[in-house]
Amino acid sequence: MSIKIVPQAQLEQHNFNSVIKQIPLVFYPSAKTLYTHRVERLQALAQKSPFSDYLNFCLQIAQQQANLVKQQPVELHQSIPLNNDNPPLSLKNLPLSDVWQKYLNQLLQAISDTTPQITLVIESLLKNSAEQLQQKALYLLNGKLNKVEGNESIFIWSALSLYYCQLASQIKGKAVAENTDNSWLCPVCNSMPAASVIQIGGNNGLRYLHCSLCESEWYVPRVKCTSCDDLQHIEYFSLDNTLAAIKTECCHACQSYLKIFDQDKDPHLEVIADDIASLILDIKTEEEGFAKSGINPFIFGN
Ligand SMILES: [Zn+2]
Ligand SMILES: [Zn+2]
Repeated sequence: MSIKIVPQAQLEQHNFNSVIKQIPLVFYPSAKTLYTHRVERLQALAQKSPFSDYLNFCLQIAQQQANLVKQQPVELHQSIPLNNDNPPLSLKNLPLSDVWQKYLNQLLQAISDTTPQITLVIESLLKNSAEQLQQKALYLLNGKLNKVEGNESIFIWSALSLYYCQLASQIKGKAVAENTDNSWLCPVCNSMPAASVIQIGGNNGLRYLHCSLCESEWYVPRVKCTSCDDLQHIEYFSLDNTLAAIKTECCHACQSYLKIFDQDKDPHLEVIADDIASLILDIKTEEEGFAKSGINPFIFGN
């Protein structure tokens, strides 16, 4: 398998100024359909992937997330205070409650078919106190990912994400997405993106970043580094050909990369599921000297 460079000249350019006033800057998630769709995609990918064991593990978590949205939905009773300096669901605007911990407990109970290593992680997390869990969650939400063991992070993040995704789905219209200084952080919850997505139909091939935590999507112009805003030194890699639906967008200015999923080329793509299934592209891109500037909720690297 070889890696190929997609020349920048072949990529579509858009006159953003003419369309920017007409397009939504933020898409809020629909928690009820998001997890169901992810489950279906993980099932399909697991059938033909060299990572099928891992995809099936993620599938168990996503299935339980889908169940919990239906069985124990989060209802937003209080209105969320708004401060235009901070995204509405950021820790600075909305301190973390412990509601997410009931989701963690249910996720841990739901995993049956797994490795001895993961079984040990589950047992260990079940013994943590509420204070310990809250501290680990705050480390992750503050970007101190190396403070929490990678496999523990998967479960904690999955529970947090389930909580934040439901909040995000209920605050439509209250997030400010115009602060271009921080275009690489989610305008709804201030977390890092998982990847970029070019949505299917309707939006003129515009690029949105997909939040790794609350699953909102926000607009960022194409052919622009989502980590340092550089416009000049962007290069694209793919495994197959120049028209591939999955590429890495690599920046020579800051040596970071993020994947970009083009649903117009493959309407079945689901950002989180396909990010795991295309792990080989990460390995090849990292061999070229780039470091990922996003988070996949199912892959914490320490
Ligand atoms: Zn977010
Ligand atoms: Zn950059």
